[in-house]
Amino acid sequence: MKTSIATVSISGNFTEKLDAIAAAGFYGIEIFEQDFLAYDGSPRDVGRMIRDKGLEITLFQPFRDFEGLPGALRTKAFDRAERKFDLMQELGTDLVLVCSTVHPESMGGIDRAADDFAELGERAAKRGLRVGYEALAWGRHVNDHRDAWEIVRRADHPNIGLIVDSFHTLSRKIDPETIRRIPGDKIFFVQLADAPLIDMDLLYWSRHFRNMPGEGDLPVADFMRAVTATGYDGPVSLEIFNDQFRGGSSEGLARDGYRSLIALMDDVRRAEPGLRLNAPEIPPRVRVDGVSFVEFATRAGEAEALAALLAAMGFTHVGDHVSKDVALWQQGDIRIVLNRETKGFASTAYAMHGTTICDVGLSVSDAHATTERALALAAKPFEQPVGPGELQIPAIRSVGGSVLHFIDEASGLADVWSVEFKPVGQGTTGAGLTRIDHVAETMSYDEMLSWSLFYTSIFDMARAPMVDVIDPDGLVRSQAIQTPDGAGRITLNGAETHRTLAGGFLADSFGGAVQHVAFASDDIFASAEAMTGLGFAPLPMPGNYYKDLEARFPLDPALLARMQGLNILYDEDTTGAFFQFYSRPFAGGIFFEVVQRVEGYDGYGGPNAPFRIAAQKRLMRPKGMPRQT
Ligand code: MG
Ligand code: MG
Repeated sequence: MKTSIATVSISGNFTEKLDAIAAAGFYGIEIFEQDFLAYDGSPRDVGRMIRDKGLEITLFQPFRDFEGLPGALRTKAFDRAERKFDLMQELGTDLVLVCSTVHPESMGGIDRAADDFAELGERAAKRGLRVGYEALAWGRHVNDHRDAWEIVRRADHPNIGLIVDSFHTLSRKIDPETIRRIPGDKIFFVQLADAPLIDMDLLYWSRHFRNMPGEGDLPVADFMRAVTATGYDGPVSLEIFNDQFRGGSSEGLARDGYRSLIALMDDVRRAEPGLRLNAPEIPPRVRVDGVSFVEFATRAGEAEALAALLAAMGFTHVGDHVSKDVALWQQGDIRIVLNRETKGFASTAYAMHGTTICDVGLSVSDAHATTERALALAAKPFEQPVGPGELQIPAIRSVGGSVLHFIDEASGLADVWSVEFKPVGQGTTGAGLTRIDHVAETMSYDEMLSWSLFYTSIFDMARAPMVDVIDPDGLVRSQAIQTPDGAGRITLNGAETHRTLAGGFLADSFGGAVQHVAFASDDIFASAEAMTGLGFAPLPMPGNYYKDLEARFPLDPALLARMQGLNILYDEDTTGAFFQFYSRPFAGGIFFEVVQRVEGYDGYGGPNAPFRIAAQKRLMRPKGMPRQT
């Protein structure tokens, strides 16, 4: 597959863009004239530099307002075309994109446009160049790929072909299946972009909100399936205009783009098994069965406080690592690892963030296939030397430089707890916590799209709708990524300012990732009471919260009183009910949560978040005092 990306999709100056695109593994680039206007070199130098970096120029664009012009304007348009052709030959590319005209004096008419393209095709052929015609969604006369194709068909010239762009087709809700009727050899180029579904002016939407395939809501895979079915096997190119991306890192954006293309073509290959597709075969999206463990890097007093908190929540210290200063705490299927090593990755993570969740282990269907897929999708590998008798557990880098390990039953990795840990201590009755319900990761808002693509492209997980969480000091966006059965749940929380609780955590932990871990209980009242008996101090909720709750939901007064006594919060929707309570924040803003889902409730108690955040802030930052954490 010839992977390509428009230079406008990436931040940075021209050479930074090229370096990032080449490093991500792309075959080529679409070049915009304005890209290299600021670059001090001739078009010939620019072309040479691009090829020296191992990239081809797959397309030159744009050439605007060409077709349907009268008289002198028409002559001028052909003159402009000749100058573009000069430039293309100097750069060393043979294909130019002509987008459908928006010129106020242009005239409609399929045949008029076809005649213009037939003549342009003649001129291009003399130089060995090709011209591709694209229907802009806001074109004056042509705004539909079906009309653009009819013009190309009637132009009937071997050097004139069609360019299809998923944004222009899908933003106008044109059925992508109509592309299947077009001969693949008359499609000269394919551009891909996704976008969030927002009802706004098409041009504004296109110029500011496009994103990578899989990051938005458009059926880009259906579009690409139709394109592939025509027999097209030329470049597949990302053309993404996004304001947020302009401030992002060029390497990160190029990597996300590459990841989105590989994942998309894998989806197309699986959906169209009859097609021969020139795309790498990679393992399918991985089934996640839950969170197997979370590992803290911690030391000294903080480690002791954390162990005491775990004990008060009903956890038992069940094992110690055979050779390392690593303790395993367990309750039900929940495993919490406390790593006090002064060497290795956990130690580095501690030095950087203080007490932090440095590692999350996911239970997956096949751990080795997971890393194979993840690495094919440009995830960063993680390995550290293993001691004698230790298992090499597959892992990759994740949010904030943390690590994601993969554990499965099939390859014996799930035995790590008996192989690497010697049992200590006595089992207690615990507090009825059964499993990890979700892990909540905090990041800057700019990174959310990237990490949601990371999870949804590697794993069989999907995005839930984004929710705004009102922090008294600013907005936090929250997006859940979850498996179809809800067994694996990760929430991404994007902070825009350091004054929010999430933003403060990011600042204080120097970019820590996991801010809270939620444990499931089948009887949250029994769990809360058992924990009270063990000395657990919950996050205190103010009386006003319960008054508000009483006004919002028809709750039994006895139940409400019981909830208030145990600081339990409540939410419900049409599918079911949700109970939750929190620990007090520790070590710079990390906290635990206990939840009970009743019937089909699939959310995370979003409406309670402002109350929870206010309660946490009261504890963390007493009035008139400097910040304590
Ligand atoms: Mg386009
Ligand atoms: Mg939560």
